[in-house]
Parts: sequence; structure tokens; C-alpha cells
Amino acid sequence: MAVILDGAKVAGEIKQEIRKKVDMLLEADYARRPHLSVILVGENPASQVYVRGKERDCQECGFSQETIRLPADTGRGTLLDTINRLNDNPGVDGILVQLPLPKGLDEWAMLEEILPTKDVDCFHPLNVGKVAIGTPEFVPCTPKGVMRLLLEYGIPVAGKNCVVLGRSNIVGKPMAQLLTAADGTVSLCHSKTENLEAFTRNADILVSAVGKAGLITADMVKESAVVVDVAMNRGADGKLCGDVDFKSVEPKASYITPVPGGIGPMTRAMLMENVLRAWEAF
Ligand code: NAP
Repeated sequence: MAVILDGAKVAGEIKQEIRKKVDMLLEADYARRPHLSVILVGENPASQVYVRGKERDCQECGFSQETIRLPADTGRGTLLDTINRLNDNPGVDGILVQLPLPKGLDEWAMLEEILPTKDVDCFHPLNVGKVAIGTPEFVPCTPKGVMRLLLEYGIPVAGKNCVVLGRSNIVGKPMAQLLTAADGTVSLCHSKTENLEAFTRNADILVSAVGKAGLITADMVKESAVVVDVAMNRGADGKLCGDVDFKSVEPKASYITPVPGGIGPMTRAMLMENVLRAWEAF
């Protein structure tokens, strides 16, 4: 039986610690609370749920927060003006543009407009580059959440064979960089990887960020591997699930994340840490 990597519990503890720190610094000499501004363009139902989660997290952490809701037909100019207004506002510590943006708006071009010191999602090329060279200002929330969960459970990375599935800019690539920085030996697999099983069966630490329910079955996993499931899919039964067939893989793993309750809450807690950092550092 594997130990369950309880992201929900750890994330709750992290948010409590953040709250304590905010209260302490406000009592000392900080003039105002940390502030996160979220820009939500359009009415994507999943995005609305994510934004409500961020609003709740900010409340729990003692941050002030605003959500700027723009209609789905918002043009490039209006979105840029909104970002620039927040860039110029000294009362705003973090700016987050909720993705995906409606078609017609170039996401990466928009994200580049956010001031790097307020880029709490860590999507700006300057911050992405700093992570790549190992001098991060911010660390992207999902891979940061994976590393923190491993740390909290005392799981060593140095010298381990780490296999990451998925090479997206927001999860897979930075995940591979963070594991490399922690002295893991990393393979980064993707849709063109031949003989995926040969990689996964060799993994001491397997991180899956693909988005395909049931992709990872027990026969693909090494005995006593640490299995981290980043993905969030809807299974055939409509329930939330990851890439990993939890039922068959769990008895074989030494540690495993549940979905939900694993990396999702850790990602949210790491966003709060990044806002706290922006408030303290800049
Ligand atoms: P993405 O941009 O769609 O990337 C998916 C990656 O998986 C791509 O690199 C793709 O390869 C690779 N892939 C596709 N089929 C594969 C296969 N059969 N074997 C190995 N690799 C394969 O997705 P993402 O944004 O990184 O998100 C990945 C998953 O994580 C999604 O389920 C998403 O909902 C979830 N997610 C969760 C959190 C959280 O907080 N828990 C945060 C972010 C994302 P190519 O590059 O070759 O196309």
C-alpha cells in the first residue's frame, strides 16, 4: 500500500503559515495586505471555477484580491490597457491572466506584457529564463507544488531516475528543470516518445502531466515508485481523475498523489506563496 501524498492537507497548512506571516508583517511595519489582481476574459465555466478558488485562497491567506471580468469579445488593446494599468499600480503585487483566453487573443503575447516582478504565474519569458538557469524570481505554481509535496514527505530526488510525461511550457518543461536542479536524472517524454513504457518502468519518480485518463497502468510502473499525477481529466463516469489508473497503480507505488486532492491544491497554495513573495520582495 502506498503512502498517499495528501496535497489538500499540506496546502491547507501552507496557507495557514502564509496567513500567520501576513498578520505578523502587518503588525510590524507593512502598510497594506498582499494584493492579487486576476483578469478573466469571457465565460469559460472551468475558468470561472478556478478563479473562484483563487478568490477563496486569497481570503484564507489574508490577501486582498480583485477579479476584473472582461467580455469574451475583448480586443487586444483593452486587455493590454488593463494589464498596463495594473502594472503601474503600486498597490498590486501579483497579476494573473486566467487561461485560456478566447480565440483571437495571443496568450503568450499578452502574458509578456505583465511586469516580471508581478508575474506570479511565472509565464513571462524573463522569469521562465531565470528558472531555466537556476536563479528563479518566481517558480511556476504546478511544478513548484510537486517539488514542495516531495519535500514535505521527505522524498529524496538527488540521484533518482525521474521521468516526466508532458513537455508543456507551464508544467512539463519547468518540472524537468526543477527536478534537474534538485539533482535528479531526468527524462522528458511526450507524444512522440517511442516505447514510453521503457521510460516509465525505470522511473523512481514518475510525474505525469499529459491529460489522458488511464494512460498509466500498473504494468508501466516500477515497484515502489513515487507516482505524481498532475493531470485533471473527466473519466467516463464524469468524475475528476488523473492520467494514472489509481486503483491498479496504488498497491505497487511507495507514494502516490490522489486526483483530486493532490497537485491541484498544491498549485493553488504555491500561487499564494508567489503573491506573498511579490509583496515582500518588490
Ligand atoms: P498540454 O499543454 O496539453 O500538454 C500535454 C503534453 O502531454 C504534451 O507535451 C504532449 O506531447 C504530451 N502527451 C500527449 N500524449 C502523450 C502520450 N501518449 N504520452 C506521453 N506524452 C503525451 O497540457 P498541460 O497544460 O501541460 O496539462 C497537462 C495536464 O495537467 C492536463 O490534464 C491539465 O488539466 C493538468 N494540469 C493540472 C494542473 C494542476 O494544478 N493540477 C495544472 C496545470 C495542468 P506533445 O508535446 O508531443 O504534444
